[in-house]
Amino acid sequence: MKKIAVIGAGTMGNGIAHVFAQSGFSVNLIDISQASLERGLATISKNLDRMVAKESIKESDKAATLANISTFTHIMDGVSEAELVVEAATENLDIKLKIFKDLDEMCQPQTILASNTSSISITQIASVTQRPDKVIGMHFMNPVPIMKLVEIIRGYSTSDEVTKTIMELSEKLGKTPTEVNDYPGFVANRILMPMINEAIETLYNRVAGVTEIDTVMKLGMAHPMGPLQLADFIGLDVCLSILNVMYDGFKNPKYAPCPLLVNMVMAGKLGVKSGEGFYDYSESKKAEKVSAQFK
Ligand code: NAD
Repeated sequence: MKKIAVIGAGTMGNGIAHVFAQSGFSVNLIDISQASLERGLATISKNLDRMVAKESIKESDKAATLANISTFTHIMDGVSEAELVVEAATENLDIKLKIFKDLDEMCQPQTILASNTSSISITQIASVTQRPDKVIGMHFMNPVPIMKLVEIIRGYSTSDEVTKTIMELSEKLGKTPTEVNDYPGFVANRILMPMINEAIETLYNRVAGVTEIDTVMKLGMAHPMGPLQLADFIGLDVCLSILNVMYDGFKNPKYAPCPLLVNMVMAGKLGVKSGEGFYDYSESKKAEKVSAQFK
């Protein structure tokens, strides 16, 4: 495989384009927003600069990586020659179903279609295509250039051959692929999100404050980041949407999102990306200050 298309140049899409391009693949990065494409390329360039400064790559590697990436604002222009398309567009079922229906019509019949979705069913996404055997989940972790795991999700009809190809490809990117089946939340979020939700519930029940909850988990459980800070980093809207997918999918109240999380999302407090979540990011990017709501 040499030619890859990545749909969506946001937080995840630019990271995915980065790792493929750095491994020598020719990458077409596609987003409906020109501004997102520009921000995505700027992020890739900044991340490569950091790697050059740390001497983990050379200046020539940076130039070669950037030269491997082309950008497009129309899907049709960027996918016709792709052997693999990795979709990393907004986490919204209707958007993803439309993209996969279009991709199925525009791509070559042998092209593998992967989604980086955090929680949407791969089987449902595959159902709008004529090639469900070639649709698979490729769930990279954030930040993509640093995190080793790729959760490989087999939909109900994903073939053994396609799974093997994507597992081997992930290894070529220097990642560790792990195969899982397609049930709500897959493995990563099925375990992570109930922990984050319970941390929010603990705050909601006033058992402890934001810093105290995060300190217990950091120092007591050796987590690199507390669950509330991690939720801010992921995006509280993303956490809520994943919990709702699990709540609806399993019909089990144990996945019901905490009312505090629901309120914060309604109030536009989405974490790092909105400038405030459990922590206040407006003055300190290091999240040193707890949001005034929780003082
Ligand atoms: P984001 O909001 O940062 O970026 C989404 C991008 O998709 C935007 O640039 C938007 O313009 C673009 N887009 C929307 N509709 C499009 C379309 N029809 N065609 C092309 N581009 C389109 O989102 P993100 O955080 O990068 O998430 C992307 C995917 O990755 C989601 O499915 C999410 O669940 C998953 N994911 C996110 C994280 C995370 O930590 N943020 C981690 C793992 C997986």
